[in-house]
Amino acid sequence: MLYNPYESARAQFDKVAETINLDPGARALLRTPMKEFHFTIPVKMDDGSSQVFQAYRINHNDARGPAKGGIRFHPHETADTVRALAMWMTWKCACVDIPLGGGKGGIVCDPRTMSLGEQERMCRGYVRQAFKQIGPNIDVPAPDVMSNNQHMLWMMDEYETIAGGSYPGVITGKPVGAGGSLGRTEATGYGLVYVLKELLEAEKIDIKGTTASIQGFGNVADYAARMYTDLGGTVIAISCFDMADQTAYTYRKKSGCDIMELVSIKDSFGSINKEKALALGYELLPGDAWLAEEVDILMPCALESQLTPESFQNVSKRVRIIAEGANGPTTPDCDPLIKERGILMLPDFLVNAGGVTCSYFEQVQCNMNYFWSREEVLSKLEYSMVKAFHAVYNLAKERNVYMRDAAYMIAIERVSGAVKRRGWI
Ligand code: NAD
Repeated sequence: MLYNPYESARAQFDKVAETINLDPGARALLRTPMKEFHFTIPVKMDDGSSQVFQAYRINHNDARGPAKGGIRFHPHETADTVRALAMWMTWKCACVDIPLGGGKGGIVCDPRTMSLGEQERMCRGYVRQAFKQIGPNIDVPAPDVMSNNQHMLWMMDEYETIAGGSYPGVITGKPVGAGGSLGRTEATGYGLVYVLKELLEAEKIDIKGTTASIQGFGNVADYAARMYTDLGGTVIAISCFDMADQTAYTYRKKSGCDIMELVSIKDSFGSINKEKALALGYELLPGDAWLAEEVDILMPCALESQLTPESFQNVSKRVRIIAEGANGPTTPDCDPLIKERGILMLPDFLVNAGGVTCSYFEQVQCNMNYFWSREEVLSKLEYSMVKAFHAVYNLAKERNVYMRDAAYMIAIERVSGAVKRRGWI
């Protein structure tokens, strides 16, 4: 069955809106993005030909502050994926209580097959087309899947060239030394582990005896795996995409993966070198084998719609926690099965909010033109993530609800409150 992430995002929202008896005006407003911009970017390719890329910038809601969200580069990007991601950004910013709204962008492209020059021209073209839709007080993009800090810097440079001034707050996830914040690269993965650690402590589980299996080895998964293993956890398996074979593989070492060893043999898109991994003694399994590992914790950190009623049948009975590093990795029809089995769900827009929280810190630092130390950034990040976790965890206990529903209750109350106070409904 093919899942549409926008339908999933709306189904999750509708369910909680019904539970909290949200009034019809707020319900109608919040289940649809408020602004959508669809455009094309013509790019001169290195061989002299021209290629036209479909692109999007979508704002779901900006009642709590300027819209915020990444720009994803992916050959299968769709308007509905961007709509869902923009919606989740609204709930994410509200859940960690930062004064920003939800936005997202995307370009239908595959940067893995493009030269750096082609990528630069595409990034600059995105900003030329979306110039009036973005801005430090309107909508602030950031990196997402397959987009990185160099792309963000080209985009900022194009924006400043058109605007004729310095606007470092127009985009986040920039390189350190060029308006970027220390700690941003590791923020999402570390944020996941800050929350996971709190959950384990609350449930009186020692992290040192736990094992995990991870989907993805890009920005989120890489840093989550580093911190989790630094704290004593053991990663048994990691699944990622292989460009040459156009398929995913799971790399497994039952005695525990050496994360820094795998980092040394992966590329900038989060693909592990198969031959080198085999030489280092890793087993090579099918891409979806990560889901079936006998571990305590699953960390889906790659794609949407990975945990479905069908794939969930393969999830080991040993799994006690799912920490959703990716956006939307679980489909709404799988949630009841996860709940029934008593698995503790750390929902995406809580657990992966470290990236946007640190992006917010980057904006603040850019606006002050004063940059904090890495320790200061990470301690503020940990404080925000831990506070958000306890609010969700306590509400879930208090009302005996699934943690995803508790996170939605908090986020929807905050956003609908802002919408009402502004007099929009
Ligand atoms: P990335 O591009 O750095 O890495 C993506 C990873 O997924 C790569 O390792 C890739 O090989 C792997 N992958 C792709 N297809 C796969 C498949 N079929 N099977 C297994 N692995 C596959 O992306 P990222 O920034 O790490 O983002 C991952 C997820 O986290 C996305 O859902 C993104 O929206 C979300 N997210 C990212 C951030 C951030 O700050 N980067 C913040 C919040 C949420």
